[in-house]
Amino acid sequence: MQLRQPLFATLALLAISSGAQAADDLVVYTSRIDELIKPVFDAYTAKTGVKVKFITDKEAPLMARLKAEGANTPADLLITVDAGNLWQAEQMDLLKPLQSTVIDANIPPQYRASNGSWTGLSLRARTIFYSPERVTPQELSTYEALADKNWEGRLCLRTSKKVYNQSLTATLIETHGAVKAEEIVKGWVNNLATDVFADDTAMLQAIDAGQCDVGMANTYYFGRLHQQNPNLKVKLFWPNQADRGVHVNLSGAGVTKYAPHAAEAQKLLEWMTTAEAQNLFADINQEFPANPAIKPSAEVAAWGPFKADSIPLEVAGKRQVEALKLMDRAGWN
Ligand code: FE
Repeated sequence: MQLRQPLFATLALLAISSGAQAADDLVVYTSRIDELIKPVFDAYTAKTGVKVKFITDKEAPLMARLKAEGANTPADLLITVDAGNLWQAEQMDLLKPLQSTVIDANIPPQYRASNGSWTGLSLRARTIFYSPERVTPQELSTYEALADKNWEGRLCLRTSKKVYNQSLTATLIETHGAVKAEEIVKGWVNNLATDVFADDTAMLQAIDAGQCDVGMANTYYFGRLHQQNPNLKVKLFWPNQADRGVHVNLSGAGVTKYAPHAAEAQKLLEWMTTAEAQNLFADINQEFPANPAIKPSAEVAAWGPFKADSIPLEVAGKRQVEALKLMDRAGWN
């Protein structure tokens, strides 16, 4: 940090004195909503003088737009969630692989693309949630064990259409092989208490309401619900602590292949991996900083420490098609 500050101060002065500010404006396509990213960009502008314009949409239309715009795109950076989506962007040849000693130093290798085309910025665990009224934590152990008979009619799941579950399944395949992974997923489907949910929040509310006893969701959804209702009758459990660890996914970003301001975009991305931005970026959505040197917020830290799966998250992309087919065969709607 000490070394970077004078550098940024110099850049800010250059931007102002050259009067080239408009040309230096960065354009970001983001599937993260305004309130999650605007404070981060505002902080960057305050620090460097570089303005950041952003366009918010769902990841699929943003990627389609980048593809259609090709070399004429105004976008310098793509921000989205889930390694599965970032891998898609990489496959569609929308991202420019970077070499960055800053990113390499700040973000563990399992949370970035091996070719440098994207990096994680914040982390979320997709973990187990349960009803403390109907389940004791001693009954819980692993994701795999939720396929056991004793959970029959007690499990709730979100739809398999959501990339989060595709990525979770992809890591199951990577860990156990396709045959065993399919057995596990079939076990989950057999144990369903009710139809799959459209989102994690509805699934967590179903546990609270007594419709099911246990389910899997991303931690920040729980954080939000818990903030709204401290009496929420749902608790968090960290599975697989004796073996591979909890499935962790990310939000992340990459410089676009045809970025008009590629060097400036890389600087913004690098800055987003440093302490200043990591706190802002993670805390607003109750996520974990992807930079392990940065502590999570008190609210997030209250969930307790856990061992995370160290599988490179690229696997979520590489095995996405396989995961989709497996979930389909298993009858996961
Ligand atoms: Fe989400």
